[in-house]
Amino acid sequence: MTTPDFPADAFTQAGLNRQHIFALADLPSALRAGLPPLAGENRLILLGHGGRRLWDEVQRAGGGGEHPIDDYCRQTIARVFAGPLAGLPYRLLYPGHASVNLQALGELAGWHHASPFMLGVDAEWGSWYAYRAVILCRAEWPPTPVVERAHPCLACHEKACVAACPARAINQGFHLDRCADQRLSPASACADGCLARNACPVGAAHRYSEAQMRHAYALSLLTLRQWRQETGRPLDSASQPRTTR
Ligand code: SF4
Ligand code: SF4
Repeated sequence: MTTPDFPADAFTQAGLNRQHIFALADLPSALRAGLPPLAGENRLILLGHGGRRLWDEVQRAGGGGEHPIDDYCRQTIARVFAGPLAGLPYRLLYPGHASVNLQALGELAGWHHASPFMLGVDAEWGSWYAYRAVILCRAEWPPTPVVERAHPCLACHEKACVAACPARAINQGFHLDRCADQRLSPASACADGCLARNACPVGAAHRYSEAQMRHAYALSLLTLRQWRQETGRPLDSASQPRTTR
């Protein structure tokens, strides 16, 4: 079967406006082994969103349930593989049960530069983007060139993010235990969002709406609370629970 063109517009229109195609053979062996690909699979598609559009599309589509963004992404991908990519077998690794190192893929794509508050930051989108799907398939699309943008924090002298954190959680490294204590404290100013993230001027035009922010941080706060109740332990960066941002 001849591979159809990659339907970038279909994903973009749906709000999945960041896309990167990897040749599986080019991935570091440890990353590839962690997937792992099945015989015949030769491409990995990383889909992400930047800015507010995805959330708007999720709302337009009805957006209910506990994980409306993941549900919407699954439905969108199924629709694209039943439409412009009809007949092309695929496997959705994420969202799903597979453990995929999203940040490692983001670094390889040139999307991720570490910010002091531990999210990726990018010269165009700031920290207002996230990984939304990882797909394996067999296709002949050329790999996407790596995004070459400088790390914004290297030229940032004010470090407004550091000053804005009420818990001093991002002074000389990130202190996840301080951040967790702050977020879990009664009437915390960080329950519904990260003041440090909001203070960063990079990509500010793409800052999420309040509704999207509330959704993302309510989920991560719930995860944090459950993790703290189950373990009773202070957090460290190696055992950080998965959060959706
Ligand atoms: S405020 Fe400056 S140091 Fe902080 S994330 Fe933004 S660019 Fe980086
Ligand atoms: S959520 Fe609050 S405590 Fe944690 S890094 Fe952001 S501003 Fe600091």
